[in-house]
Amino acid sequence: MTALTSTEWSLAARPVGMPKLSDFQMKTIDIAPPGAGEIQVKNEWMSVDPYMRGRMQDRESYVPPFQIGETMQGGAVGRVTVSNHPDYKEGDLVSSMAGWRTAWVGKPEMAMAQKLPEVGLPESAFLGVAGMPGLTAYAGLLRVAELKEGDTVFVSGAAGAVGSTVVQIAKIKGCSPVVGSCGSDEKVKFLIEECRYDAAFNYKTDTDYLAKVRELCPKGVDCYFDNVGGNLTDAVFANLAQFARVSICGMISQYNLQKPEMGPRASYMMLLIRQVSAQGFLVPQFGGKFPQGIQQMAKWFNEGKLTYREDIVDGLENTPEAFIRMLKGENRGKQLVRVS
Ligand code: NAP
Repeated sequence: MTALTSTEWSLAARPVGMPKLSDFQMKTIDIAPPGAGEIQVKNEWMSVDPYMRGRMQDRESYVPPFQIGETMQGGAVGRVTVSNHPDYKEGDLVSSMAGWRTAWVGKPEMAMAQKLPEVGLPESAFLGVAGMPGLTAYAGLLRVAELKEGDTVFVSGAAGAVGSTVVQIAKIKGCSPVVGSCGSDEKVKFLIEECRYDAAFNYKTDTDYLAKVRELCPKGVDCYFDNVGGNLTDAVFANLAQFARVSICGMISQYNLQKPEMGPRASYMMLLIRQVSAQGFLVPQFGGKFPQGIQQMAKWFNEGKLTYREDIVDGLENTPEAFIRMLKGENRGKQLVRVS
């Protein structure tokens, strides 16, 4: 049993607006060998996710903010290198919330570790389509928005890890049309050619959102899966059908603003006059469904019904850069970091 070091990223300063590289700090620390009931894991893949931006601010939220100097927490996949735990053995593949670091030692439950099954998917997929973003899409669409066959579905943030999975599930479930918005023409092409969207548009160049949503969803939107909030959401709300359902998943258009632009607007009135149900949700409430979600995603993938793409940045040292490029929309699919 050899002692190990871990190289880790912590928060150096609370970002103002879009985070900068200087908001993060890297250090290498010694980690003690595992004690009774503990495992030692070397991370192979790490995830950078939009919710991490919220945790960098010192404000009340559903999870405590990161503290200055604290290692950034987040999804990671790695291999057990030493085990003193009866349920784990050397070589097991595990996901955890251990975060932006090369290695960790601890009790599996403290790191929210889970042993990952062999389901015909590559390891990195457990941070994407068969991980937290995939389950967010699955639960947010089927459980929160109560998707129905034949629904007109609109997805904002459509080309990302969550959005691109949402649309494919909607197509598998027989919805039509399924329409999305995203931030580049290349992403529009990906959505239509690879994800089977019926229509998609670039919200950065097609800026009359009200007219665009009306044109692409002529019968009104029955199911809105919202990843971005802001002006686009106002336009979708104005085009909601009677008894529409809205799954409020994320508001990335607001995360880097000093003063969020959303407020009680005309869109709120639409909830009343169109008798709409809108529900915010956080995926941890469906945590117990993770094993079932992994099996379902793997089944659809192995049947050729579900595809995904990943954007891989190599090297732990480039993690903040990967995070910032994702926030800027430069990622093409699930943004990941390959640790070594
Ligand atoms: P992602 O879509 O893979 O990456 C983030 C994307 O957001 C970027 O690629 C960019 O794409 C888009 N974006 C950035 N700034 C924007 C702006 N001002 N307006 C519109 N779009 C903007 O990320 P993800 O992991 O799939 O997450 C998508 C959303 O789901 C986020 O809001 C996240 O917070 C939320 N989420 C919620 C839960 C939950 O439990 N409720 C769980 C996971 C994720 P474009 O090129 O299209 O701009």
